[in-house]
Amino acid sequence: MKCSNCDKEYPSGFYFSTPSICTECFDKLPPEQQAALQEESRDFKREREEGKPYPVLRTIAVIYKILAVLSVIGGFIGLVVGIVLFASGDFDKAWAVAAISIFYGTMGLISSLAISEGIGLLLEVENNSRINRKLITSLLNNLKKA
Ligand SMILES: [Zn+2]
Repeated sequence: MKCSNCDKEYPSGFYFSTPSICTECFDKLPPEQQAALQEESRDFKREREEGKPYPVLRTIAVIYKILAVLSVIGGFIGLVVGIVLFASGDFDKAWAVAAISIFYGTMGLISSLAISEGIGLLLEVENNSRINRKLITSLLNNLKKA
């Protein structure tokens, strides 16, 4: 994105106060001009703020996905240890290590994915109801006009 005032290039709308003017330039403008532009760019700002809601939940969902992968890796390492013990003739320990690794690896994988997907589902439901609310509001407005 490029500022139409100073021609500086910015990575995203985050650095902009209006669709075309960066925050830095905007702050230098006279107050009456700021007010006029602010009115014009109200929708722009609202959209920017609504872009990605619940950043913390999103991060947690990603963390649980990583934990799911780590569970698989941990389970696999445990299994390798079990096989090594088996090869060395320590059968009792080998079975115990292998069984525990498979159990905790699978449990870790399933619960991490379930939590991650659960958060994703909640976010999707929330997003859907927000879209529905917007649609219903515009529908009611159109009905009022008719
Ligand atoms: Zn600028």
